[in-house]
This record gives sequence, structure tokens and C-alpha cells, in this order.
Amino acid sequence: MYPIDLSGKTAVVLGIANQRSIAASIAQILHQAGANLAVTYQNERLREGVAKIVEPWSGTATIECDVSSDDNVEAAFDAVSKEFGRVDFIVHSIAFANRDDLGGRFIDTGREGFRLALDISAYSLLPVARYGAPYMTEGGSIVTLTFQASERVFPGYNVMGTAKAALENAVTQLAYDLGPEKIRVNAVSPGPLDTVSSRVIKGYRTMKRAHEERSPMRRNVTHDEAAGTALFLCSDLASGITGQVIRVDTGYSIMGI
Ligand code: NAD
Repeated sequence: MYPIDLSGKTAVVLGIANQRSIAASIAQILHQAGANLAVTYQNERLREGVAKIVEPWSGTATIECDVSSDDNVEAAFDAVSKEFGRVDFIVHSIAFANRDDLGGRFIDTGREGFRLALDISAYSLLPVARYGAPYMTEGGSIVTLTFQASERVFPGYNVMGTAKAALENAVTQLAYDLGPEKIRVNAVSPGPLDTVSSRVIKGYRTMKRAHEERSPMRRNVTHDEAAGTALFLCSDLASGITGQVIRVDTGYSIMGI
């Protein structure tokens, strides 16, 4: 039994592509804590893989949701509410940029690539909150995933750093909007973790090595540590925390050199 008990609560987790997805670790720990789960997948191509991942978690609903369409987000939350009624937690673990924009010089980022990265990786938190919040009738917690490239230069992260800066700002403004409804909005900011998305970033290996060599704890963070922080932010233990970015990076971000 986990010290955090979320039985009777419902969590919507967006952003599982495969077993390595941070969202998969978060969904698993929320399930272990007793929450009902609705898990979304981006498109038909990912449906079967996601269904396999959630198979051991009985009662979990799988619903399609492409966040590039507001209608799709609205329909996904309608489907969740039909299945579970109230929603208590939403985990937004979604980002996308063209592979060409995750390497080389930031200065060369094209207008369309910039727009796409900001749309999927930052703007999408707004419709997710807008269409999810009305079902959070007893308050709740929205958690997104960010990275320290929002404020420091990590070569190769490029336009995704701009997107994370926008996302972190959105977290503060959504926290303000939704605070009166007792809905908290926060971001978890893990160090580098091996996933489909991170591996395409040129310079990812260098980032991982730097964290291992220079962080106070001299190692990289784990999927479970990132997921545990998301669980904490969903739980009542974090009832006074909103609008924050919580770094889970073995301390890398405090270093000056
Ligand atoms: P991942 O590739 O497993 O997850 C990214 C998810 O975004 C995928 O499930 C993908 O289907 C989804 N997605 C992309 N476009 C979408 C769309 N239009 N509609 C719906 N879903 C869409 O990689 P991940 O590393 O688990 O990434 C999850 C989050 O964690 C991202 O926000 C990422 O920036 C963040 N993050 C990752 C790391 C890392 O090192 N892996 C570190 C810090 C933050």
C-alpha cells in the first residue's frame, strides 16, 4: 500500500507513446496509489501499444486525443466524464517539434517549426485545462512536464526550450485562473530521461553525461523519481502548492559550473 491513497479519484493521463514514456510511469504510480485511470493516445497508430501498457491496470479507459485539435480535446474529456463522472487529476505529458529543429542552430528555426513546437508543447495545456476543469468539480490537480531548457541553454534543445518557457508561464496563469476552483496547476521538471522524444534531440547524450558528472548527486534521475513527484503534486500533501515548477534533476540546476 502506498502512503498516498487516491482511491475513489480519477486521473486523466495524456502522453503515453510507449513503456518508456514518462506518462507511463506516472500512470502506473497513480494506479498503484488507487486512482481510476483514463489514458489517452495521440492517434490510431499508438492505440494498440497503449492498450497493452494499461492492460494490467483493470478498469483503465483508453481514449484517443490529438491535442492539435480543440474539438478532439473536448471530445476526449466528454468521453472520460461519461466513463468516470468527475475528474480529479490531469497529467499533460506531451511535446513535439520537428526533428530538424532539435539540432543545429536555434537561429535557423523556421516559422512553421516554431509554431508547431509551441502549439503542441505549450498551447495544448490551455485546451486541456479548459475542457478538463469543468469536470474537476471537487477541485484537483493538473500536472505538466517541463525541462530546465526553459531558462538555460541546452544546445540541441533549441525551439523546445522556447516552448518550455511558454509552458511554464502558462502554468502560472492557469494556476491563477483555476485557483478559485481549488484546481492546482504545476510542472515537474526532470533531468534527462531516455524516451522516444528525448533521443531525437541532438546533444541529448551530452546533457545526460553532464547531469551525471556535475549534479550534486552524481547521477541521472529515474522515471520513477519523476513519476513520484507527479504523484505528490496530485496528492493532498501538495495542497498548498500551485503555479510552481518542481525540479527533479538530482540537483543539476543549482550548479554554477
Ligand atoms: P514521449 O515521446 O514518450 O512522450 C511524448 C508524448 O507526446 C507522446 O506520447 C506523443 O504521442 C505525445 N504527443 C505528441 N504530439 C501530440 C499530439 N498532437 N496530440 C497528443 N499527444 C501528442 O517522451 P517523454 O520524454 O515521455 O515526454 C513527455 C513530456 O516530458 C514532454 O513534455 C517532454 O518535453 C517532457 N520532458 C522529457 C524529458 C526527457 O528527458 N525525456 C525531460 C524533461 C521533460
